[in-house]
Amino acid sequence: MADKIELIGLSKEELAEQIAKLGEKSFRAKQLWQWIYFHGETDFSKMSSFSLGLRKKLADNFTITRPKIVAEQLSTDKTRKWLLEFSDGQRVEMVYIPEDDRGAVCISTQVGCAVGCRFCHTGSQKLTRNLTAGEIVSQFMVARDTYGEWPSPTNETRYLSNIVVMGMGEPLHNPENVIKALKILTDGDGIAISRRRVTMSTSGIAPRIVNALQETGVRLAVSLHAPNNELRSKIMPINNRYPIEEVLSACREYQDGDGSRYITFEYLMLDGINDTLTCAHELIALMKKYKLRATFNLIPFNPWPGCSFKPSPVKQVSVFAKELENAGFAAPVRVARGQDILAACGQLKSKKDAE
Ligand code: SAH
Ligand code: SF4
Repeated sequence: MADKIELIGLSKEELAEQIAKLGEKSFRAKQLWQWIYFHGETDFSKMSSFSLGLRKKLADNFTITRPKIVAEQLSTDKTRKWLLEFSDGQRVEMVYIPEDDRGAVCISTQVGCAVGCRFCHTGSQKLTRNLTAGEIVSQFMVARDTYGEWPSPTNETRYLSNIVVMGMGEPLHNPENVIKALKILTDGDGIAISRRRVTMSTSGIAPRIVNALQETGVRLAVSLHAPNNELRSKIMPINNRYPIEEVLSACREYQDGDGSRYITFEYLMLDGINDTLTCAHELIALMKKYKLRATFNLIPFNPWPGCSFKPSPVKQVSVFAKELENAGFAAPVRVARGQDILAACGQLKSKKDAE
């Protein structure tokens, strides 16, 4: 018998095709979608709205798989990190960052990353492969399993309320699978995370930004980290390929499509590198030049073994933030979470340091 088909990661249309191939009516595909994504069911024999015969037929043809949890760590601040393994043995990390009555799940899109930002732990590990849409979606499903958040709760009562695509990998180096996964995660008949609670962060793959956001309707965060090309290229080599002008022009085009959408610019505070007042002024000038409605997110640099950058002093961060605020931009400082378990931004890695 042919290999069973994995259902997680199929689009609604693809699932309908599979059901049609079995000779079943189309409403069965809708029910199956709900079992998988609304109820979180992984066992066909428990799908009680199906006849025993159909349950067996489904089990004979399909699988519903979660990645294996290889390790799970809980930080003193309640941030949780999972090391997940897919069927070919490849691994990624996922993080849950709780707030009082809600929280964000930070998901990965690639094993490793080819962008190679100098300050990023993930970037120090070469790209191994893209994740499939199913592997991206199933990370979030593991988080729901852990917190028992099935069936999909209403928005007001969910702990896993937000998704940030800020784990390992550059989402726009894997756009097809990321877009497909985001459509599944935000589908109202299933997991139903609202689009405005999903943020995709990119290092600035300029030509792919507008389409990805138009397709998915999620929010955009851009890892800017420097106000001019010379500096940005030094810490983010991708800037040689897509310089600041191209990235910000794409941002402008995105906001032309919908004036209400703010963009978050992530800005890592690296001691003596990009944290001067001159840098703040250059940043403000850039925002004005491209007429961007922007919010900054100042990120304290999280050190990792083998990296020589140092975090900016707290005082310098607040001086920098004040300058942006005085120019009319919100500039909250991101609180580092889960540092004790290396779960904070830029610290994720799928292998031990020795490997
Ligand atoms: N590849 C995407 C998304 C994942 S990285 C991107 O780069 O945007 C998520 C955020 O963590 C990015 O803004 C990234 O620049 C930041 N980051 C990377 N290394 C970091 C570190 N050591 N300390 C703090 N933030 C870091
Ligand atoms: Fe890749 Fe983002 Fe890390 Fe840069 S910061 S190396 S794009 S994961």
